[in-house]
Amino acid sequence: MGRDAGQGTSRTREADAGQTGRNIQARRLPQRRRSVPVQDSLGRGLVDLRISVTDRCNLRCPYCMPKELFGPDHAYLARSDLLSFEELARVARVFADLGVRKIRLTGGEPLLRRDLEHLVEKLASIDGIEDIAMTTNGMLLAAKARRLADAGLNRVTVSLDSLDDEVFAKMNGTGAAVARVLAGIDAAESSGLSPIKVNCVVKRNVNESSILEMARHFHGTGHILRFIEYMDVGTTNGWRLADVVPAGEILSLVDTELPLAPIDDEHRSGVATRYRYRDGGGEIGVIASVTSPFCATCTRARLSAEGMLFTCLFASDGFDLKTPVRSGATSRELERTILDIWARRADRYSEIRSACPAVIHGETTTGDSVSEHGRDVPCAGQAPPPTAVVLGHPRREMSYLGG
Ligand code: SAM
Ligand code: SF4
Ligand code: SF4
Repeated sequence: MGRDAGQGTSRTREADAGQTGRNIQARRLPQRRRSVPVQDSLGRGLVDLRISVTDRCNLRCPYCMPKELFGPDHAYLARSDLLSFEELARVARVFADLGVRKIRLTGGEPLLRRDLEHLVEKLASIDGIEDIAMTTNGMLLAAKARRLADAGLNRVTVSLDSLDDEVFAKMNGTGAAVARVLAGIDAAESSGLSPIKVNCVVKRNVNESSILEMARHFHGTGHILRFIEYMDVGTTNGWRLADVVPAGEILSLVDTELPLAPIDDEHRSGVATRYRYRDGGGEIGVIASVTSPFCATCTRARLSAEGMLFTCLFASDGFDLKTPVRSGATSRELERTILDIWARRADRYSEIRSACPAVIHGETTTGDSVSEHGRDVPCAGQAPPPTAVVLGHPRREMSYLGG
């Protein structure tokens, strides 16, 4: 019932919106944009916006926010630096006018942002936004799922790296219990936040032993389990290639017990490669950012909680949108700023990492080169400006720019 109520609110608003000249103009914008698609310098559209609503988290997954480096004295963003819900919705509206159809709320842990449902409600009323999702560690989800669904949230992705409390504790750095996350998943299901995806980062010799148990547990539930290769995001997790369990290895393991068949995903734009269980038990996926990069189809923009726009998960730097938002820029001006940033976007970090791992990890020798736009460029140089990924510069943390 709550779900219908949420959708009803948003539908009613759209109907109301059609009554005024201002909103009639707003409704025409997506059509105008469709005829001239927004594209970056590599021909990739601008389809999804990930909004990080906070850089704080209640867990300390060592692969993301190791507790030794994110201790009590860590300098998080000040409250006055965070974009307000009104400011976030305003920026999201500009993205929607540029053709963005999907928004994902993330962080840090998005459920730490107080009254998040108020933001969801604002986003759900934006003309053109078809899908609002959230990635969460699930710790606070049981208490919040219904309110979020009522506000217009469509789906959730819940992160869970093991069903074994001991292993999960190693992966989350705090001792948080599996049962709490499972309760969050149950609440999301009963609130209609489906299909629910479950993200499981796999780290060699830490939670490899959980792969089959996770597959068995979610097989036949309708939830979509996705195994994620451990990535070299940020600079604090001490990433080593040796800690990555390749997606191919994960799939082979699952396939031995629960036979899989690839799903023909002709129009793939998501990050996961999808498989179905041959026995009809549903679907799983792998996110193989390390062994099989998908930069060619990457249509995601990221907005940090303080209003910096990032064009790649591995960016060293973003583009400040907070200053124009707070100094009275018109929506048209913001639109032009974003268009300009996106038009020059050339990021393809994971592809470059695959082609030339040495350059990424500062072990470059002058003889190394990487194929860039069909020509060989020296690894030791920077990626073509003004890409946000500046090779050799420290990358921003995923908890800050939004996973
Ligand atoms: N706190 C929320 C959560 O954990 O779901 C949302 C933010 S988190 C940064 C988003 C996703 O990124 C999670 O599924 C998490 O497991 C994943 N992630 C974080 N660090 C990662 C890494 N080094 N490699 C692969 N995935 C990572
Ligand atoms: Fe927190 Fe999510 Fe990062 Fe884990 S992965 S530390 S839950 S932001
Ligand atoms: Fe997109 Fe950057 Fe990831 Fe490539 S490395 S898929 S461009 S976020």
